[in-house]
Amino acid sequence: MKQKRMFWFASWAVGCAVIAGVMIWAASNKTVGCSNEDLTQIPIAQVTASMQDELQPEEKRVFLTFDDGPSATTEQVLDILKEKNVPATFFVVAAEGNEPYLPLIQRAVEEGHQIALHSCTHSYKTIYQDTAAFWADIKALREKISPYVDVESIRWIRFPGGSTNTVSHKYGGSLIMRSLKKQAEEKGYSYVDWNVCANDAIGGHPSANTIYQNVINDVDNHLTCVVLMHDTKATKNTAEALPDIIDWFSENGYRFCKIDELDMQI
Ligand SMILES: [Zn+2]
Repeated sequence: MKQKRMFWFASWAVGCAVIAGVMIWAASNKTVGCSNEDLTQIPIAQVTASMQDELQPEEKRVFLTFDDGPSATTEQVLDILKEKNVPATFFVVAAEGNEPYLPLIQRAVEEGHQIALHSCTHSYKTIYQDTAAFWADIKALREKISPYVDVESIRWIRFPGGSTNTVSHKYGGSLIMRSLKKQAEEKGYSYVDWNVCANDAIGGHPSANTIYQNVINDVDNHLTCVVLMHDTKATKNTAEALPDIIDWFSENGYRFCKIDELDMQI
């Protein structure tokens, strides 16, 4: 089962990298957060096929995920999720700029959302210099968010830049992601990338309508959609697009899930 699960994740990561690689630009005006520009383009794998093998025929699931929060936008996002009565997963950071918003993690938990780990500093240079630095950063994140969530229950990670990023090679060598993924599994963590991207963390602040279209266009024919969005002060337009994004998935028969449910049937 473990081997199967590892294969699943490997296929998933490769597929995600390809899909993400198509639509990546740098967030040149951001100091903290995902910019995605460093993801590697790898020949396509059967990401959705491998995922769908384990599901009931035609079951549609959508996983709304938000990276880089909590932030000045989080309350708006939580209000919308509450109004629409759908769950989401937040891959959080605890960097200098967003620390005042960390208590919002508690609200997210109370309202039934999942908290997962992204990075404390979200500094590629810092976290990817070697594997020890990465896990020190994760430890710092866990400590900073521990007043607001049961950190012992957290088992999901999303690597900054994705699990196949190459920006890390500059700092930690070409094998660092391979080492980190292995170590994550040894530590009991699961990691996940995405196969649908809002492309909202780019320069120029795309409009809500553009973000909505980016998501819908990326869905393609995926029955399982892990949607990458961002939760930062710069992504207010993502929150503005969120009601329409949720409505689209509802109207198209998708069930809203948290990342914890991603491998329940494997
Ligand atoms: Zn990020």
